[in-house]
Amino acid sequence: MDPQTHFLFPFTLSVILVKLNLFSWKLALLAGIVGVIVDLDHYVEQIAHAKTNRFSLTATWNNAVRFHRFNQRSFIHDGIGAIIVTLVLLVLAFFSGQITLALGFGYYSHLLLDYARLKHEKEFCWKLGVFYMKESELEFILDALLIVVLLILFLI
Ligand SMILES: [Zn+2]
Repeated sequence: MDPQTHFLFPFTLSVILVKLNLFSWKLALLAGIVGVIVDLDHYVEQIAHAKTNRFSLTATWNNAVRFHRFNQRSFIHDGIGAIIVTLVLLVLAFFSGQITLALGFGYYSHLLLDYARLKHEKEFCWKLGVFYMKESELEFILDALLIVVLLILFLI
């Protein structure tokens, strides 16, 4: 899924906890940011595997969205990575349960959204400057729904 969805989903869940006085705004923001930065491994994989434009963020984006010249997902997107991250979070939980919860929201929601992608779903493709863009109908609906929920939460 795209970065905005990876941000909106854990951020919205966290804002619900903020409204229940169980979480701070800083931690809600942290959860959203973590949800996005999990995909930084795409850039590392670009540097490691690309034949041209190794350090280009544009090439990294376009490979992820359109060209798929190599798998940009590193081990942190898979089972062994999830186990390692879970072990790190368990250790961190002894020091700060709240920070661990924020990191966990970001990381696990990222994996959930990546693996929830349905095959044969309708996708919209367009070009924005040098960037190829692609978003499924389902992701548009999810983003819109999350924004509506956030607006309601900000108003109450
Ligand atoms: Zn991802």
